[in-house]
Formats: sequence, C-alpha cells, structure tokens
Amino acid sequence: MHYDLHSHSTASDGTLSPTALVERAAAQGVDALALTDHDSTAGLAEARAAAEAAGIRLVNGVEISVTWAGRTIHVCGLNVDPDNAGLQAGLASIREERERRATRMGEKLEKIGVKDAERRARAMATGGLVARTHYGRLLVQDGYEDELGKAIRKYLINGKAGFVAGAWAPLDDVVGWIRGAGGNAVIAHPARYDLTATKLRALVNQFIAAGGEGIEVISGSHTSDDARNMAEVARRHGLLASRGSDYHGPENPWIELGRLPPLPADLTPVWTRWS
Ligand code: AMP
Ligand code: MN
Ligand code: MN
Ligand code: MN
Repeated sequence: MHYDLHSHSTASDGTLSPTALVERAAAQGVDALALTDHDSTAGLAEARAAAEAAGIRLVNGVEISVTWAGRTIHVCGLNVDPDNAGLQAGLASIREERERRATRMGEKLEKIGVKDAERRARAMATGGLVARTHYGRLLVQDGYEDELGKAIRKYLINGKAGFVAGAWAPLDDVVGWIRGAGGNAVIAHPARYDLTATKLRALVNQFIAAGGEGIEVISGSHTSDDARNMAEVARRHGLLASRGSDYHGPENPWIELGRLPPLPADLTPVWTRWS
C-alpha cells in the first residue's frame, strides 16, 4: 500500500476540489490518501465518494491549529470520526478565531497598500475558511513577490507587516478531541517549527502525556536531514511514524501527491493501527 497521509483541498487552503485531489492521488499511484484540511472536515464527504469511484482508500483526517508555548503547531488527526460532536465543537471554535484573524490580517495588509485585501482573500477562499495561504496568493497576484512561500515569509510570519498571531487551541485539548473521535494524533511536519532539541522534547513529552501517538517523519516540508532527525525522535520516544506530502495543489511543482520516500523500515507506521 502506498500511503499519503497529509493533503489539502479547497475546503481549506488547497486549490483542488476534494474530487480533483482524490482523482490526482489515484493517478499518482496513491492507494490510501488522508485529506487533512486545516481545522475542517468539510471536504471529507465529497472526497470519500470520489475515493470510492477511483478505487482508493480515503482516510478521514484534519490538520488542527494549536498554540503551544507561544507558537503555532499543527497536529493531524488521522482516522477520525468526522461526526464526533466534541471534535466538531473544537474545530468550530478554532474557525471562529480564524475568522477574526482573517479580518485583522486584511486590515493590516490594506494599511500597507494591498487594495481590498480582505474581500479578495475571502473570495479566493471558496470553502469559506481563510488561511495565510490565501493572503499570500493575493500578494503574488499583486506582484509583491513572485512566489507564495516568499510572500508568506516576507509579509505573513511573526514580525512582518501582515502577521496576526492566532490564539489557537491548547495541545492537550486538541489531542483529546482527536482521541475522542477515535483517531490517532500525529505532530505535523515537526522540523518546520525551528524548535531547539530541548523544546522539541518538551513538546513531544506533553503530546504523549495527552495521548498523542505519532509524528510525521516523511513530509513534503522536510529535507532529508529533517527526516533523519525526526526518525530519531520517533525511535527515542517510541512514536508511530507518518508520511504525507502536505500537497496544496499543482501550482507548487515541488510537491506531488504520493511522491515521497518510504518510512525507515524499523519504524512502526501509524497505519498499522488501522484495520
Ligand atoms: P494558517 O494556518 O492560516 O496560519 O496558514 C498556514 C499555511 O500557510 C500553511 O499550512 C501553509 O499552507 C502556508 N505556509 C506557511 N508557510 C509557508 C511557506 N514558507 N511556504 C509556503 N506556504 C506556507
Ligand atoms: Mn496549508
Ligand atoms: Mn501545517
Ligand atoms: Mn498541511
């Protein structure tokens, strides 16, 4: 089985519909795809129908925004029950915060001259969930930068003109919602947070104490050094390992669904927990 356990659709900040995403995954040889939209499970029903038609397995997922030690951390819930009330209540509370932040980000960008920023970002977010990605695409459209990552790094990260810190959910709550919905909690792209070894250990210890079980070792946003380091973290803490592209759409030619190295053979993949 060829697994890709991290991807986005138009239900959050991806550019392909859930159907188009699943069809592309199937065409790329993916046997099991997790749709993990930011703070929303709204794309899962459509993705499931498409997966049945394409003959691949859909894993119900979600990538949840956490505030931990003053930073944003992403935790993926994999194999969750999207009908779970506790999970949905938690996600709804995060989306309210996203709404407030979207307005404030728009105001800040309009102040530096981005015309009509809020309205245009909202129009771009066809699924109704606004992410920094939408504002970043707007900045590229207006010629502020030629590439999304650059636009985000120049305008939308901590300390930059358009940055607004979201107050996301506490780590323990998020892991609790995922477990309550029958899923496995996995720290997304752990190498991307620029944590010192000490901070990373503290994060992982608290995550495990809350009931968290896995980390992404192979990720579209990891280098091969990152993957080696995170494999070591998985070994040291006895964590399950996950593998996902973090695909957001064909505009980024560097990342493709399912195009990832295998997990190191000595690690236990998170999917071994699923029937
Ligand atoms: P948000 O959850 O709204 O704060 O937006 C975070 C999203 O912005 C991530 O999930 C990525 O899709 C995108 N993002 C953040 N940093 C970068 C980057 N350096 N390059 C490209 N996309 C990024
Ligand atoms: Mn994203
Ligand atoms: Mn993420
Ligand atoms: Mn993601």
